[in-house]
Amino acid sequence: MTDYDEIRTCCSGGDVCRVCWDFMTVAIKVVHKTLTDDFGFKNLLWVYSGRRGVHCWVCDERARKMPSEGRRAIVSFLEVIKGGENAGRKTNLPKSLHPSLRRAYEVLVPHFRKTVVEGMQVLSVRDHWTKLLALVPDEDVRKRLDQQWSTRERSNESRWEDLVSELNSKKKSLYNVERDIIFQYTYPRLDSNVSIGLNHLLKAPFCVHPKTGKVCVPMDPDRCEEFDPMDVPTLESVLNDEGTSKRIGVERFCKVFLRGVGEEVRRGLKERNILEF
Ligand SMILES: [Zn+2]
Repeated sequence: MTDYDEIRTCCSGGDVCRVCWDFMTVAIKVVHKTLTDDFGFKNLLWVYSGRRGVHCWVCDERARKMPSEGRRAIVSFLEVIKGGENAGRKTNLPKSLHPSLRRAYEVLVPHFRKTVVEGMQVLSVRDHWTKLLALVPDEDVRKRLDQQWSTRERSNESRWEDLVSELNSKKKSLYNVERDIIFQYTYPRLDSNVSIGLNHLLKAPFCVHPKTGKVCVPMDPDRCEEFDPMDVPTLESVLNDEGTSKRIGVERFCKVFLRGVGEEVRRGLKERNILEF
């Protein structure tokens, strides 16, 4: 999610809320479809990372034995957003899209409106709309809209319509700009290093995130829209639930095992204290 910081207006860094979590929903929808429909993988497990992201385990034998070059090829097929934090335009899409990206675009459009325009209100504050307008390669359009929006109160939706109607004027330089803005603002950001390298560590399902205490629970990609990261059980909530804590043997762990280890450590300290004095 930190890779969306240049776009997010609600949170930054490790924080997430229900508005920006939608980027993860988009990512799951797009990546899942590509991995299953385009590459034919079947055994996919989506797991909440416990804090601000999601992991996808692709466990088909073909994937597990795939060398780095193959993994790199799949990642580059999926990668659309490129360039560092300060690069303006980060997409370099051809005039007509590959069917896989056309299918992705259909997913992106409604989420762009819902999350970027309505949810994050990117067109309500000058700082944010300047960043978005920077993707329009026509100074007249940029200036005209900036002036209009600075002087007139309009809803974010109407401002987006203003921009779209400017972009649909038959000017060649503006062709596909609407499409490219939507890609830049909603298309999934992948961690390519983790995806390509085989020596990268990845938290296993059901681990507990050290900062949030949340359990890395598996997710259903067909119902990813319903997933709420605020509602994920924490280690504490699991332990406090008597039934669960009994089932997973918490009492034995604490009362028998930890108590034994603790007593031994205490004894050791005592002996050393005695020696030191
Ligand atoms: Zn947020």
